[in-house]
Amino acid sequence: MGEDRRSFLKLAGLAALCAAGKSSLSRLEGSAETTSVEAPKGVRRAMVVDLVKCLEKDDCTACTEACRRAHNVPSIPDPKHEVKWIWQERFRDVFPDEEAPFAAEALTARPALVFCNHCDNPPCARVCPTQATWKRPDGIVMMDWHRCIGCRYCMAACPYGSRSFNWEDPRPHIKALNRDFPTRTKGVVEKCTFCDELIDKGQPPACVAACKEKAMTFGDLNDPGSEVRRLLRSRFAIRRKPGLGTQPEIYYLV
Ligand code: SF4
Repeated sequence: MGEDRRSFLKLAGLAALCAAGKSSLSRLEGSAETTSVEAPKGVRRAMVVDLVKCLEKDDCTACTEACRRAHNVPSIPDPKHEVKWIWQERFRDVFPDEEAPFAAEALTARPALVFCNHCDNPPCARVCPTQATWKRPDGIVMMDWHRCIGCRYCMAACPYGSRSFNWEDPRPHIKALNRDFPTRTKGVVEKCTFCDELIDKGQPPACVAACKEKAMTFGDLNDPGSEVRRLLRSRFAIRRKPGLGTQPEIYYLV
């Protein structure tokens, strides 16, 4: 994208944000009580991560690497400039609200997989001044990198740190270019998109397909017969920071 167009979009976006002003703020203030900005009809995509199965293989990075290859996620050595779609964090940082006093230490002492939660009530989408991020009817929180002006309001609004900013040109840091997927540029925010490009073709997300332990299950929460619903009926599940009212669509079996 040319600098002129980016500057124009940035100005237009800021003007739109000012005009939205008070109403946007009041929507944000009410977010903790709101369960959904638009009730999903039909399919409702969700992911179930079995943390116990995920720990079966030490130091496994199959899902992370599959995501990186599928989406041209750069490998930037400087942690301050790192770009992440799916990664691991300490259990107590991922679930700060969960005391989990009786959970096995083998679980709570190990890192947990994290990515965008594709929140049913996504604060990131509400604050984006150019609508570069929005929620699809099936619940996927999407991104249009061409519309992103790099204002990073979405990063400030996301309470999970699920978005990364390209502080430098990511292209030289792509290990193996996937020509079927777009690359991003300096000054653009990016994140997991639940592999919309694959699931729209009837294929599972790249991370789910790559996990040999079958620790990740993707499906339709609105279908009582789906595997995600069966797992959620049969096992105890937690979500990240449930008190914020964002309604994450990633469920963790513990
Ligand atoms: Fe938006 Fe963050 Fe929720 Fe993903 S996890 S939908 S980036 S608020």
